[in-house]
Amino acid sequence: MKNGNEIKFEQITEHVYQAQVPTPTLPPSFETNSYIIQNGSEGLIIDAGSKDTNHINELVNLIQSIGIRHVSGILITHYHHDHTEGVPCLQSRYGCNVYVHPLDMKNAAQEMNVNIHQFTETPKEILLGDMKIEIQHVSGHTHGHIHALLHQDKVIFVGDNMAGDGSVWVGPKDGHMGDYYAALDKIAESGCMIACPGHGPVLKDAALASTLLKKRRTLREDEIYSLIQKERYTLDGLVNLLYRGTIPDEALWVAKKTIQSHLAHICESRHLTISFDTEEEKFYYQA
Ligand SMILES: [Zn+2]
Repeated sequence: MKNGNEIKFEQITEHVYQAQVPTPTLPPSFETNSYIIQNGSEGLIIDAGSKDTNHINELVNLIQSIGIRHVSGILITHYHHDHTEGVPCLQSRYGCNVYVHPLDMKNAAQEMNVNIHQFTETPKEILLGDMKIEIQHVSGHTHGHIHALLHQDKVIFVGDNMAGDGSVWVGPKDGHMGDYYAALDKIAESGCMIACPGHGPVLKDAALASTLLKKRRTLREDEIYSLIQKERYTLDGLVNLLYRGTIPDEALWVAKKTIQSHLAHICESRHLTISFDTEEEKFYYQA
């Protein structure tokens, strides 16, 4: 039931607020984060995933309650619907720019059901009064994914390149594992303390969290490589062996995409033979 108070709102640093907004997204998350950067009466919104009128109204009230009188823009980290569905409604309320990376623009327009001309290409930096927000293009989770860096508060907004509660999925058609590893390196080298992810709580040691996440992913890739060195596997065989029973069945398609992305990266960086078994009518992968 809607009680008009569904958004968890928390101040993270002097200029940054996190709003955890209920959205249709992937387990284990049930919320997608919007962030508000404030400089006096000026504000910038990062991501807006819910088009529910109650959520929009609540978010607008929260933004007003912290003293923001002018929202100068909405920045989207990437095009996925759980980060963008609320954007058109907020844009019409504030009459502001919506910043989207060109590589994500076509998909973003589709997800939001708006004309691509409503978007502004993400600049290298956004000024909020006298405060600078640096924008970096960092593909991985999607091709046009961006990070925003508020150096003044040592905060980096990482969208779905990290999660506060678990790992993220990286797979076709949007994701690329090699790019993703580079994205995690970039977070570790950013000089920022706090990473603000698209889902879950903020990560208080951005460098450590991104390093651990990269380790987890590369260990998984090594595990896949050593399995296919010993014998041939189908994609479904690998999914069943590595994931079935450890994650909800409805999330297995996501695991499958991530394994596809690992296999593609093994193909690019090591050695992979793909064969087709005509009896079984299946592709097999072997190193
Ligand atoms: Zn996403």
